[in-house]
Amino acid sequence: MQWKIPLADIDFGPEERAAVDSVLESKWLTMGSITESFEKAFAAYIGAKYAIAVTNATAALHLCCVVAGLGPGDEAIVPSLTFVATANAVRYTGATPVFVDIAGKDDLNISYHCIEKAITERTRAILVVHYGGYACDMPSILELAREHNLVVIEDAAHAIGSELGGIKLGIWGEMGCFSFFSNKNMTVGEGGMIVTNDEAHAQRLRLLRSHGMTSLTWDRHRGHAWSYDVVDLGYNYRIDEVRAALGMVQLGKLPANNERRRYLTQVYRDVIKELTPQVVVPFVDHDGISAAHLMPVLLPGWINRSSFMEKMKAQGIQTSIHYPPIHTFTAYNAEKEKYFLPQTEDIAQREITLPLYPAMTREDVFSVVLALAQALVFA
Ligand SMILES: *Cc1c(COP(=O)(O)O)cnc(C)c1O
Repeated sequence: MQWKIPLADIDFGPEERAAVDSVLESKWLTMGSITESFEKAFAAYIGAKYAIAVTNATAALHLCCVVAGLGPGDEAIVPSLTFVATANAVRYTGATPVFVDIAGKDDLNISYHCIEKAITERTRAILVVHYGGYACDMPSILELAREHNLVVIEDAAHAIGSELGGIKLGIWGEMGCFSFFSNKNMTVGEGGMIVTNDEAHAQRLRLLRSHGMTSLTWDRHRGHAWSYDVVDLGYNYRIDEVRAALGMVQLGKLPANNERRRYLTQVYRDVIKELTPQVVVPFVDHDGISAAHLMPVLLPGWINRSSFMEKMKAQGIQTSIHYPPIHTFTAYNAEKEKYFLPQTEDIAQREITLPLYPAMTREDVFSVVLALAQALVFA
């Protein structure tokens, strides 16, 4: 399908090609010095003491759940309106994800009040997701977590570079996870990063990332070690040098690209208010600086969403939905009866995500909203 305006588009150029070439020429492909530089640069950008690069954000979330001590019999509170990986990561440890509702149509993030109501004596952790790059109510959530002695893990997959009160998202909780998947604000194809200020967590995360081994192939290559012990049940969740090199270049481009996303978001808001005021734009009163990963809008309740999306497609405009709620999936269906999440269920049926990427122009935004206005009439 040749879209006139796709949902997302990556910003790759000769810099990325040169970075990959230099890795290929170096003949050192697995995790090594470029990964170390990428971790240092990422930690500095976020304002975190430690950053640990991994295979993807799903692996990052899994390791954080392990380090948080989650296991069978434990509960972790998660939103249902997120990508399935957030909840799967909890289940990998044998713990149970407990789904809670979002705040409402203006704030698609997990509701502080619903978290509070869901806490039981089994609750060990809260996994927050900063939907679209917009910050959850971290000060209140952290206070609640302190009162109940819970670990807060941030799924900041959408929020690379987002801020709240001058502090980057991802470093508010005990550990934060980022994704560099192809459609995220910066990408290496498949990749992820964990940030933390806790030295013990950082050490354990590094061990778990590479089989629980006390030395890396990289250390042995440099003559720093010739043997190793295995001190923990680890995984192979390493990143490689090609992706780390891409990550370095993409991180450099991120601030300007996020700024551009915020600008385009504002254009969307202004034009939608003029042309299609019946469409709700969430997060307009959000405080903080968003990475503006997504441009979600809520259609009026009487609109048939699938025929609406078909009408957009006919006009060459790609749209998506974020997200089908996790508690309604087949693999989670046993849970369905347990949950009453009215905001999530209402909004998940009305939400569509409009195209948003740095290379979009103002005119592209106008075209999307004009198509939206037409599709609303004929859907
Ligand atoms: C993309 C995404 C993930 C998973 O990231 P991967 O790097 O693809 O594993 C997790 N959570 C959310 C909210 C995401 O959007």
